[in-house]
Amino acid sequence: HFISLEGGEGAGKTSAIAAVRELLAARGHEVALTREPGGTPLAERIRELLLNPQDETLEPETELLLMFAARAQHVRQIIRPALQRGAFVVSDRFTDSSYAYQGAGRGLDPAWIEALERRAVGIRPGLTLLLDLDVREGRARTSGRDLWPDRIESEQDDFFERVRVGFRQRAAAEPQRFRLIDASRSPAEVGAAVTRALTDWLEQ
Ligand code: C5P
Ligand code: MG
Repeated sequence: HFISLEGGEGAGKTSAIAAVRELLAARGHEVALTREPGGTPLAERIRELLLNPQDETLEPETELLLMFAARAQHVRQIIRPALQRGAFVVSDRFTDSSYAYQGAGRGLDPAWIEALERRAVGIRPGLTLLLDLDVREGRARTSGRDLWPDRIESEQDDFFERVRVGFRQRAAAEPQRFRLIDASRSPAEVGAAVTRALTDWLEQ
């Protein structure tokens, strides 16, 4: 069982993941929590490169390929083995983030992303919880948080708006996999909505 959480900046993925973990653990499941970019020591080093390109501009193509390099490693080292031993894998972001950020946001060709997904990843979550939030609201919530410096300077709300639309289009294209969660509510309410969506999915 493979579950991912997706959403823009400030949508509350971290507390939503806590709700997911709690519910699955209460039902006696082994839960393997992980995140992207990252999830293995090497992939976390790639994350570091992505988060901190230093004085060099990170080109969109470089960003995409580093994301998929990290993901290929993550899938083989962590996700597949955990799935094979019967754990519930819960990932904070997965390939949908590449379609949204590198595809819709950065303007890279989705056909290229599909090819990378097919050849380097080969799996999709069975359930994806998309925390959907107004871009300005998310920005207000994350002011003061250490986001990607490059992005903060160079990207404005229109970038994050494209990301949001990208996520929503993916959700609309695969309604059986996605659950859209209105993340504008309080953390407790979002947690309750996440719990409901997950319970429905487990019992379907
Ligand atoms: O999940 P979290 O908010 O910690 O992600 C860190 C940053 O990574 C986000 O601000 C997002 O902009 C960026 N990201 C990205 N492309 C991905 C995944 C994450 O640009 N595929
Ligand atoms: Mg987070």
